[in-house]
Amino acid sequence: MIRTIPAVEEMQKTAATLKQDGKTIGLVPTMGYFHEGHLSLMRRSVEDNDVTIVTLFVNPTQFGQNEDLDAYPRDFERDKNMAEEAGVDYIFRPANDDMYPGGYKTYVKVEDWSSLLCGASRPVHFRGVTTICCKLFNICRPDRAYFGLKDAQQYLVLQKMVRDLNMNLELVPMPIVREGDGLAMSSRNVYLTRAERGAAVLLSRSLAEAKEKISGGETDAESIKRGIRDRLNSSEHVKIDYVEAVSTETLDPVSDVAAGTLIAVAAYLGKARLIDNIII
Ligand code: AMP
Repeated sequence: MIRTIPAVEEMQKTAATLKQDGKTIGLVPTMGYFHEGHLSLMRRSVEDNDVTIVTLFVNPTQFGQNEDLDAYPRDFERDKNMAEEAGVDYIFRPANDDMYPGGYKTYVKVEDWSSLLCGASRPVHFRGVTTICCKLFNICRPDRAYFGLKDAQQYLVLQKMVRDLNMNLELVPMPIVREGDGLAMSSRNVYLTRAERGAAVLLSRSLAEAKEKISGGETDAESIKRGIRDRLNSSEHVKIDYVEAVSTETLDPVSDVAAGTLIAVAAYLGKARLIDNIII
């Protein structure tokens, strides 16, 4: 039976007991509204660890003022059943004022990297992500935490935080799970109208074309990015936020694409802001 833990204190006590008993803990932080992407992380954690904790928290500090915090899709009963089916042991589902009580003041921020790529159009986002993950790591005391590479910058920023602050856990990056036509699964895909859903496939398709060019010997980042932009601009439904090629080591833009280059795109389709990427 999966157990739901609604309060920070109870989660801390439970995690402390699990550690005392010598159990390894796998953590899967999420904002809920599960799809196969989330489930792939949960299944892997269940395989790797004695106990798996999934956290379900729509974290207000990682949303900007004009973003979709209130509209973000939620369905706890469905999520709980899916997590149970995946073999998860605990769902930690704290209230906002338990995580951020009145007078809350402390934030964790990875300098510079938090302002690049998605951080340019979402200035508070990564500070919110690193802060909530730091708190979740302290509360749940995982040996391993699982993150999807759909959010590649999120993984890289969190990995930086873990190394810089000597946090004692392993982050496990997991491959992007896609729909049949290639669209990266996302809770935000429910915002798409039929026409936008049709156009959304251009994100993965433009990246797949880039990958093919690179396999064929192309290394010029400008030319690869231009190809992606042209493909995305072929639909009136797609408004590009960015198309970038950066080093996964430094997040600096590269002029030549090579092993370890992250090619990332973000675009608005109506109300939805979608992201996708490939790592060479
Ligand atoms: P979210 O609930 O959107 O914050 O996502 C929770 C975790 O699931 C994050 O580590 C995401 O990167 C991961 N995730 C979301 N979508 C996918 C996907 N399509 N494939 C793999 N992982 C994903």
